[in-house]
Amino acid sequence: MAYQLLIDGELVAGAAISDVMNPATGEIAGQAHVADEAQVDAAVRAAHRAFPAWAALSLDDRRAVMGRMAEAVEAEAEPLARLLTQEQGKPLAEARGEVQGLAWLMSRYAMFENPAEILSDDEVQRVELHRLPLGVVVGIVPWNFPLFMAGIKIGMALMTGNTAVIKPAPTTPLATLELGRIWADLLPPGVLNIIADRNDLGACLTAHPLVRKISFTGSTGTGRRVMSMAAEGLKRVTLELGGNDAALILPDTDVAAIADDLFWSAFRNNGQVCVAVKRVYAPRTQYDEICAALVARAEAAQVGNGLDEGVTLGPVQNAAQFAKVKEYIALAHREGKVLTGGETTDTPGYFITPAIVRDLPPASALIRDEQFGPVLPVIAYDDPGEVVAALNADPLGLGNSIWSDDADAALDVARGIVSGTVWINRHGVTDPSIPFAGARDSGIGAEHGADGLAGYTQIRVISQKK
Ligand code: NAD
Repeated sequence: MAYQLLIDGELVAGAAISDVMNPATGEIAGQAHVADEAQVDAAVRAAHRAFPAWAALSLDDRRAVMGRMAEAVEAEAEPLARLLTQEQGKPLAEARGEVQGLAWLMSRYAMFENPAEILSDDEVQRVELHRLPLGVVVGIVPWNFPLFMAGIKIGMALMTGNTAVIKPAPTTPLATLELGRIWADLLPPGVLNIIADRNDLGACLTAHPLVRKISFTGSTGTGRRVMSMAAEGLKRVTLELGGNDAALILPDTDVAAIADDLFWSAFRNNGQVCVAVKRVYAPRTQYDEICAALVARAEAAQVGNGLDEGVTLGPVQNAAQFAKVKEYIALAHREGKVLTGGETTDTPGYFITPAIVRDLPPASALIRDEQFGPVLPVIAYDDPGEVVAALNADPLGLGNSIWSDDADAALDVARGIVSGTVWINRHGVTDPSIPFAGARDSGIGAEHGADGLAGYTQIRVISQKK
């Protein structure tokens, strides 16, 4: 049976049904109902109707609902994780982690506090600042972490008193629609609506006049389109876009000690992570050693169907991304040296063995662009200052990491880098209480943390003469 849409508290059929492919087998993972423009309108109107009562609830009442949402996810964690692996491709252990992460997000956002701030209180005036919900929030989600990304948008929107319409990516709608079934009875009708599409309803959603905010995670190009659609209605936007994160390894670092973390920071979820390490800068004196350490780990990775025991890397998620990664690998063969990997299989799945590439020219597209797949360039450098200057000149500025045995030296270099996050001796670690943002073309606004939550609210100042 096809997974249904959630509109106004009801699970409903869409205007059509779409087959969703399992990227590990080429078979159908399941079917999704997909909406049309009339159903987009119905979902937004339902969210708009539900808004006043939801916004008027106390924080504690909303907290209780969020707690029940977390428990319901825990109760159905295993089938949800299996469904996620079947549509997204990631190994089951990672899918389980993503489902647990979703429950964790709900519980953590439930701790949100929103007291009025007293900005001034003296003999002249009393000034209070309140943060009010905005109204209908649209959350648009990519295919790499369907549940976790939806969870960020749902958790932040609902806890701050907004209502939401969520749209997963067309190649990964199933687990998100299933979430709608799991949560349908826990929320007042219309507070959360989930619709799927064939990559054709994003513009209609963002243009809807009753939408007050759009939280978008996806590519920089689509982010620009979202922002221009939002301009007409002066809608608030949070844009979490692409990244081309570097790992800069400082000289004399103990490579054996960092190699596992470094490798998995680049290859987890097949590199299809906005904050994956997408290029490694190695001191020339340790270039061979670092390449060899990464090659050893690439060759030890078990590529296969994410449902199979022992698999550590699943298939690339979809046909378009598979084609794109294969082009980068062909380019790596032409412009540099592929030390290992980059091989496809003759089975139907989108499998590519993890590739480590060296000796590329600095202008190579594999260094300059975001590859979003299992092919990692390693670049030799002589002067860390030149690497930092190049990173700061990059149009993308999501995250970067410094790896070193010398904490002070690492901190010193980190303080010279302008990106949303600079990690030291780790990469890609995020937390609901810590803002996550992109510099330059990597985004606008933040998710997570007080800054993120503020982005889901409208300021009201009450200024009183005494
Ligand atoms: P994408 O931009 O193609 O699609 C993202 C979502 O936008 C999908 O749900 C899609 O259906 C929808 N969409 C398409 N056209 C739209 C339009 N005109 N208006 C509104 N929505 C529209 O991106 P993708 O291929 O799904 O994801 C890969 C990209 O996302 C990578 O660049 C990656 O770095 C980025 N990403 C960023 C983060 C982050 O937090 N910064 C997280 C994950 C992925």
